[in-house]
Amino acid sequence: MLKVGLVGYSGRMGQLISEAITQNTELKLVSVYVRDKQELTFHADKICITNDWQEFLNLCDVVIDFSTPQGTYALLRATIDNPRPLVIGTTGLSEDIYKLMRELSCKIPILYATNTSQGVALLNQLAFIASERLRNADIEIVEMHHHHKKDAPSGTAMTLAQCCAKARGLDLEKIRVSGRDGNLGERSKDEIGVMSLRGGDVVGRHTIGFYCDGEYLEITHNATNRKTFALGALRAAQWVISQKNGLYSMKDVLE
Ligand code: NAD
Repeated sequence: MLKVGLVGYSGRMGQLISEAITQNTELKLVSVYVRDKQELTFHADKICITNDWQEFLNLCDVVIDFSTPQGTYALLRATIDNPRPLVIGTTGLSEDIYKLMRELSCKIPILYATNTSQGVALLNQLAFIASERLRNADIEIVEMHHHHKKDAPSGTAMTLAQCCAKARGLDLEKIRVSGRDGNLGERSKDEIGVMSLRGGDVVGRHTIGFYCDGEYLEITHNATNRKTFALGALRAAQWVISQKNGLYSMKDVLE
């Protein structure tokens, strides 16, 4: 039985992950990290609920983190002294946090996925191929999420944009445009548009378009249920524990 520790337990994703673990005979939720024990107001039987990182880590074989960039940063810092394989699904991480994750992945296997669904893992691969083959196409990405989502553009949209930039040997930070307003002049050839819409209870929609003269190709992924992400996270946890140290993505899990 694989012992799982969870960061972000009281959140929307945390609740679904904990439910999915209950239904999985190979996994057991043993520890939960919370910033403040008062924040946990509901019943959590036989699970260690703690705000002590070392106690939290000591109990589990693998950690799943769906929290906030601050939570992920604190987890990574705590793992330096008490290494555990990690599945990180939190989005909106800064370059500094990402750098720390890369450094730590020399000591532990870490799976980082801005989207743990199978469909988006495939979409990333399709985006890479289309950017390479349709060299002259203008690339625009549009994402839509529920009104609770805090970060924008979504981590998934940023990963898609990175796949496209990499396929063309471009530096995404220099060419990303996330909003247009006013008299900006014509669109430059290399820019990659990454636009965000927010509203209602939309779980997650990503459309990537390759716009050429005379034709265009659009590919859309719709997440219709958040459970998809929870099940993907469990699959990733079961996979990551038997990997060598390194930084992995969902593509590695599915291959
Ligand atoms: P949420 O706001 O419902 O939950 C956030 C959780 O993090 C809460 O339990 C909160 O108590 C906890 N938290 C906040 N700050 C913390 C800290 N400093 N230390 C420890 N815990 C802390 O959010 P959500 O909708 O569950 O999403 C959580 C994250 O997962 C977001 O970054 C979201 O974008 C991401 N997400 C990823 C995927 C994926 O497939 N990778 C899918 C959906 C959401």
